[in-house]
Amino acid sequence: MTTLETRYHDVLQTIQHHAQQANRNPDDITLVAVTKTWPVETILAAYAVGMRHFGENRAEELEEKRPQVEAALGPDSGIVWHFIGTLQSRQTNPVADHADVFHALDRLKIANRLSKRLVENGRSSTHPLPSFLELNVSGEMSKSGVNATDWENSATQRAEIRNFGETVAALPGLTLHGVMTMAPWEAEPAVISTVFRRSRLLAEWLAEAMGLERPLALSMGMTDDYPLAIAEGATHIRVGRALFGERQTH
Ligand SMILES: *Cc1c(COP(=O)(O)O)cnc(C)c1O
Repeated sequence: MTTLETRYHDVLQTIQHHAQQANRNPDDITLVAVTKTWPVETILAAYAVGMRHFGENRAEELEEKRPQVEAALGPDSGIVWHFIGTLQSRQTNPVADHADVFHALDRLKIANRLSKRLVENGRSSTHPLPSFLELNVSGEMSKSGVNATDWENSATQRAEIRNFGETVAALPGLTLHGVMTMAPWEAEPAVISTVFRRSRLLAEWLAEAMGLERPLALSMGMTDDYPLAIAEGATHIRVGRALFGERQTH
């Protein structure tokens, strides 16, 4: 087995183990392989060993790599492209054109710009962009994400989150798919678990407040903390280094 294959199998086993520990079905957890900074060859190698969900965090990289991968594998490869990074408003068009799922919807301006483009490029009627609201639950990750640091006690925060969710759900071209959270850096496992648990409760509260028929998905957990995220209910984990090794840049 190649290193990549070994790492992939290790991650799959870890997912299975922690899902079972939590009485969850491992099939309910989507492994998003984060290929940011890695070349197209790495994506093709990952595809060859079975990975199908890929995550990028820069619009230019997604825009560059997706057509190259499609040229190599054809349009029916079964790959799902996830955009996981915070977006600047000037980068919304490539994401509306090339992403299948968006994990980091953190403000209305971005939602509006994406929606406008998704109408223009025709996707709003055929395949809208499922989006996760990025919520800042821990408070430690600084800027990005809607403020949810005290959502349990703050009616103001809850109203803002709900309003954001309802606005996104009503915008043409976007569907409200879930909630995304980042854990605090280098915190104790108990602290990280608490942030993940509070995020799950927030997603449950929001789905109920909005009267949604289906539960909201939960994008949380990266290389250092995805077992904790699975234990707390993550449906999408975003894993880079555990699969591909250390990145050379950003
Ligand atoms: C880079 C990145 C990841 C993956 O991080 P690893 O530590 O390599 O697993 C996950 N989510 C986001 C938003 C990222 O930017």
